[in-house]
Amino acid sequence: MEKDPLFLVRMDEVPRSGIDRKGSLDAEWLGPRVGPIHRPVGKDAKVRVKARALGDKLEVDVSINAVVEFDCSRCAEVDKKALKLDTRGLFIPEGRHRHMLEEVSMDEDRMDNTFPYKGNVVDLEELFTDLVALSLEQFPVCSESCKGLCPQCGENLNTGPCQCRTEKIDPRWQALAGIKEKLEN
Ligand SMILES: [Zn+2]
Ligand SMILES: [Zn+2]
Repeated sequence: MEKDPLFLVRMDEVPRSGIDRKGSLDAEWLGPRVGPIHRPVGKDAKVRVKARALGDKLEVDVSINAVVEFDCSRCAEVDKKALKLDTRGLFIPEGRHRHMLEEVSMDEDRMDNTFPYKGNVVDLEELFTDLVALSLEQFPVCSESCKGLCPQCGENLNTGPCQCRTEKIDPRWQALAGIKEKLEN
């Protein structure tokens, strides 16, 4: 597949005032990057790219607005959420980037969100990919207070207590369960 021109910046074409691009990323691009836990909703995600040249470096601010859906990791119900993501990246000519990596190896944090570029063309795709990948939870929930499913009967506890839950709470049943256990041992 050909690279989306939204991702590409030619260093010799960056005006003094910088670049301000609006575009969109389709579900085909977003799908594999939010998956398999999340799925894109709707046709595309809104994207904005602002970039300015600092000598031969390119400072880039990107933002993504997208809607994704997921199965709650506790109750398995489908839920949606809006992603509003933004980050800043610094693109540095490949040779200098490698050199800087060696120099600051004791201080890796300083190299966060820096990327190498080759020749005259900066490719922003990795910055977008990282932004999406690092923003998504592994175990998304529909709500922090989601009660999940009963591990015994599988009922959704958000809709009310299940049968085995009420049995457990009832002290008479508790006592009987204790006797049963003794008889079995
Ligand atoms: Zn849930
Ligand atoms: Zn239950």
